[in-house]
Amino acid sequence: MSTEISEKINCLIIGSGPAGYTAAIYASRANLKPVLYQGIQPGGQLTITTEVENYPGYPEGVQGPEMMVDFEKQAQRMGTDIRYGLATKVDFSSQPLKVQIDEEKWVEANSVIIATGASAKWLGLDSEQRLNGYGVSACAVCDGFFFKGKEAAIVGAGDTAAEEALYLSKICSQVHMIVRRGEMRASKVMQERVLKAENIKVYWNSETEEIVGEKKVEAVKIKNNQTGAITEVPVSAFFVAIGHQPNSDIFKGFIDTDEAGYIKTIPGSSKTNIEGVFAAGDVQDKIYRQAVTSAGSGCMAALDAERYLGEKGLH
Ligand code: NDP
Repeated sequence: MSTEISEKINCLIIGSGPAGYTAAIYASRANLKPVLYQGIQPGGQLTITTEVENYPGYPEGVQGPEMMVDFEKQAQRMGTDIRYGLATKVDFSSQPLKVQIDEEKWVEANSVIIATGASAKWLGLDSEQRLNGYGVSACAVCDGFFFKGKEAAIVGAGDTAAEEALYLSKICSQVHMIVRRGEMRASKVMQERVLKAENIKVYWNSETEEIVGEKKVEAVKIKNNQTGAITEVPVSAFFVAIGHQPNSDIFKGFIDTDEAGYIKTIPGSSKTNIEGVFAAGDVQDKIYRQAVTSAGSGCMAALDAERYLGEKGLH
């Protein structure tokens, strides 16, 4: 791979969720002179949530976007060089490590902390792609407001789907929830809330056949898996809440991942299979996926990077 290097970085952090910013705070305080590229969604997934009540240190709770601004400010105050930009390619075949930014320039790094998080999954329907942004969305909290007083459909049966269905039930006149099996994966308490809500109708054993509409969502065709019957339900919005996938594509071929794409780290550490490359947050965690666990793993990555650079005589 031919790469003209434009800059040399001691500790490069990719991603700006709780993992990336926490790694940045620790790496800055350890004088690793970190550079952090924020990625496509500065602040990460918490910027598309509302209230966070389970992050310690905020006794009254905090809005997700506000919390991420706090994280950024703290990293900045410690001296992190925070930049807009997306890592688009890597070459980890030799040291120093090489990372391409915005499909243009290549930077060289003595250590890399991958904190690229995870993104929403889609069903993969043509109509879903065509109407994305025109009534199709993967974030009820971001877009539900636009469909105030209207009918909406949501697909999924995990805690996210349950939470978003409840959120929508407070804004929309009616919520149609499409569940592919005869039961939900969501926690008992969330399921109970969904089933109790008067304006949420659950379609069990059902899948989305098609989202109907030329320029905007007008209806959804719901197919019952057991009978094969298709029902067309008029809706103005269609929300997808079927889980997330780790943002690890650009590292494939270099960094070991599991079948789902989550980066494998050596248990009890943030180390990947490549020397000097560490992973933190949702890109390597399919179990806990919490802001606080992400932040904790970001701290681990910075400490691991510091130790590594020290051992290599680079710090
Ligand atoms: P999950 O992976 O838990 O659930 C995904 C859901 O989408 C499942 O019900 C799955 O169905 C369904 N699904 C997947 N693919 C399709 C498809 N192609 N068509 C139709 N349905 C599909 O993801 P979540 O985002 O809900 O949750 C992720 C993690 O975050 C979980 O551990 C969850 O507990 C946690 N979480 C916790 C919250 C809280 O505590 N307040 C809030 C939100 C999330 P099936 O069940 O049939 O596989």
